[in-house]
Amino acid sequence: MAATSTLLDGKGLSKAMEADLKVRVEKIIAQTGKVPVLATILVGNDPSSEVYVKMKGNACERVGMTSVRVHLPEETTTEELLAAIEKLNNDEQICGILLQHPVPHQIDERACFDKIAIDKDVDGVTCLGFGRMSMNEPAYGSATPAGIMELLKHYKLPLAGKHAVVVGRSPILGKPVAMMLLNENATVTICHSKTDNLPALIKQADIVVGAVGRPEFIRAEWIKDGAVVVDAGYHKGGLGDVEISKVKDRAAAYTPVPGGVGPMTIATLIAQTVASAEKKLKA
Ligand code: NAP
Repeated sequence: MAATSTLLDGKGLSKAMEADLKVRVEKIIAQTGKVPVLATILVGNDPSSEVYVKMKGNACERVGMTSVRVHLPEETTTEELLAAIEKLNNDEQICGILLQHPVPHQIDERACFDKIAIDKDVDGVTCLGFGRMSMNEPAYGSATPAGIMELLKHYKLPLAGKHAVVVGRSPILGKPVAMMLLNENATVTICHSKTDNLPALIKQADIVVGAVGRPEFIRAEWIKDGAVVVDAGYHKGGLGDVEISKVKDRAAAYTPVPGGVGPMTIATLIAQTVASAEKKLKA
């Protein structure tokens, strides 16, 4: 059993980040007379996506930035969405572009993500951004994984030499977080739906990242005592992807759900937009 279990307070850290970002935004405005703008694109009427986009817009306002909301109908084609992104790419006022995932099935989401100009890819969704990040070159990281890494860094949790087991390999979460952990010299195992002996692999983990998208899929008994548990999942009823309530007392550290990874995702998106604004607006 871990001597003490540290709650990785994403909510608290994201508030502190926002306070710092507010000061940086004030400085940009004072020096350039320009207000940084994040463009959000929502396609269709998925209620969860609408909430996420609204939360991101609200976070912009809290730090003194503006968000421009582009809302396209459910039947939007790939070509129409590509054209909307191109317009934002060419708009000098826009410092960052967020295309809310997922888009309706008729749209080629990958093509649309990759249309986002690299210097405005503040949500870290392009292939180029992923490749650069993987090669340890400057790039905005995918927001949720970069937020997870910021949280681990803030609590000074050792990563080098540790065995990290990431459950999930999605382009926005599992795959990039695995590369970020590798860049910090963790030894990384990436698991997915075809993985054999998942419980045995998780049992070896010093760090477990749950990014499966199924409520409490990762069972408490699969996790060894003293592991660091990061739960990226969020489901109805406040459940994550890990059976966190049963493991938190014997984990070295864990992210609560809610209040762990979620707020860090938004704070990271805003932080990367401010960083882009500082470069673009030459503050
Ligand atoms: P996703 O695209 O659905 O990917 C899920 C991953 O889990 C896939 O790689 C899949 O494997 C794997 N998986 C599914 N069933 C499995 C099984 N039985 N055993 C092992 N692996 C399995 O989901 P996502 O977008 O990465 O999201 C993952 C979770 O994070 C969700 O709960 C989501 O709500 C949450 N999330 C949170 C935030 C936030 O801001 N807090 C942001 C994004 C996502 P295959 O590749 O083989 O199909």
